[in-house]
Amino acid sequence: MKELDRFIRDIPDFPKPGIIFKDITPLLGNGEAFRRTIDLLHDRAKKMKAEAILGIESRGFIFGGALAMRLGCGFIPARKPGKLPYHTDRVSYSLEYGENTLEIHKDAVAPGQRVLIVDDLLATGGTAAACAKLVRGQQGIVAGCLFVVELGFLSGRKQLASIPTESLLLYS
Ligand code: AMP
Repeated sequence: MKELDRFIRDIPDFPKPGIIFKDITPLLGNGEAFRRTIDLLHDRAKKMKAEAILGIESRGFIFGGALAMRLGCGFIPARKPGKLPYHTDRVSYSLEYGENTLEIHKDAVAPGQRVLIVDDLLATGGTAAACAKLVRGQQGIVAGCLFVVELGFLSGRKQLASIPTESLLLYS
């Protein structure tokens, strides 16, 4: 997917020294590139037979929301603590930079439902693995994990070993 490569901007030392942040806003800002990204995610999502999309706050909402609409399936927001209004299930995990907690509503996933986890970027895999835990905790099936960008050198796939995982742009 070399054509999309030029819409990903490297920001050195953000949000902390030593991190090269992959900024996807140039891609979002270009209608053709954004649509192409959703088309490519859609191709992969169809093969994974998703019945619902779980998008991870906040950039996962952008890609996951557009993809859910394209697939005609429901969208489940995985949010930072205290943001969801109803009863929640929560999970904590460590990030490439820092710690995080995510929540979904207690009734977000139907038992046996095939849920596809979507985010902008796969780094260490901790975030997506935490979301898989939330889905399984509600007796859902993790249909797959889908990312726009993958930082291969952080080996995030190892954490998602049992889950079909795809990304559009691999930085190794
Ligand atoms: P991880 O749990 O380590 O796979 O981290 C993935 C989450 O952190 C995603 O929601 C990304 O948006 C964000 N993230 C981690 N590292 C980066 C990075 N280098 N550039 C942009 N986003 C990142």
